[in-house]
Amino acid sequence: MREGFYFGAGPAALPTEVVKQAAKEFVEYENQGVGLGEISHRSKQATQIIDDAKSKVIEILKVPETHEVLFIPGGGTGGFAAVIYNLMAAFAAKTGKKGKADYLVTGTWSAKGAAEAKRLGVETNIVFDGKKDGKYRHISDQSEWKFSDPAETAFVYFCDNETVDGIEFPQLPQVPEGTNLVMDMSSNMFSRAVDVSKLAVLFGGAQKNVGIAGVSLYVVRKDLLKQASPAELTQLGVLIGPSVFDFTLIAKNNSAYNTVSIFAVQVINLVLGDLLAKGGLDAQEKESNAKAEKIYALLDARPELYLTTVAKAARSRMNIVFKFKDADTEERFLKGAAELHLTGLKGHRSVGGIRVSNYNAITPEAIDRLAEYMSKFN
Ligand code: PMP
Repeated sequence: MREGFYFGAGPAALPTEVVKQAAKEFVEYENQGVGLGEISHRSKQATQIIDDAKSKVIEILKVPETHEVLFIPGGGTGGFAAVIYNLMAAFAAKTGKKGKADYLVTGTWSAKGAAEAKRLGVETNIVFDGKKDGKYRHISDQSEWKFSDPAETAFVYFCDNETVDGIEFPQLPQVPEGTNLVMDMSSNMFSRAVDVSKLAVLFGGAQKNVGIAGVSLYVVRKDLLKQASPAELTQLGVLIGPSVFDFTLIAKNNSAYNTVSIFAVQVINLVLGDLLAKGGLDAQEKESNAKAEKIYALLDARPELYLTTVAKAARSRMNIVFKFKDADTEERFLKGAAELHLTGLKGHRSVGGIRVSNYNAITPEAIDRLAEYMSKFN
């Protein structure tokens, strides 16, 4: 067993049994005399691992026939660019036009997604910007959102859970009929049910809730695999994306167009196997909610000590952020926690304070230990 509990935001804790199994398979996989960091990504075993991981994603997220599951390198940041290239090319194929992009900015990561679109020369509209006095604290009322004309919009983008700011959408945002909705689920995937049929693309880096760095998961609506050719894109003045991010090529090659990390995909496979064995997504969602509620209840019980800034309706179940009135108290809190082997609690460097990451691998026991410490701390 590993001593203590690590609440870091990502890369993040994985179930101990999964880590042990993965370590074994890194040394040798199925008595083949070769480990998963060494085996060919096109071998029979590798193909089986990709297929198994895919079918678990399909089972757990209830991915409909209309959608395809892909594993692609490049992390969450790669995803910012990948969705731009692919959805602009799909929009060009469908309409013969250069599309625009709409972004719902609720925190650091959606702001970065929007910045990437601007950087790549996409005409970008910010549907709303949650930043006030330099901070993200809420999701504004839907009546204040300003979408572009759906006929001109290649996609609407949002980040379901803002890892740095501790803001999570309570449900899928309502967007104009017929627009392609893109969801960054890097830090809350597999923590709750999601209606995939409403999404054009769901994506996220694996390294928080479902695996390790090195691979990202994408669920892509299949009609978006029909994309304008490089010549057509050039004519329209739309950027041509690199092949490593080309959803069509990757889908055709069962996620092995180039060398995908089979080890990283197998970790996803093992994590999802563990999730299924523990009762699937319903059980996980209940557990995630109960763990988060326990910490928020402690914060709300002592508002003079624990300062919370995120509006209650937008509170993240995955990244629970709070502050103390001064730096000394914060330091004392972190030091006392570390003495109990409760680590990884320091907030993101851009916002400071404390961040409790409550991902799937954080057990109820870990939360109980932290809660006990927090209830006594003063
Ligand atoms: N989106 C979200 C919600 C994230 O939390 C992160 C990373 N913390 C990213 C995107 C960027 O991921 P990466 O570091 O894998 O590029």
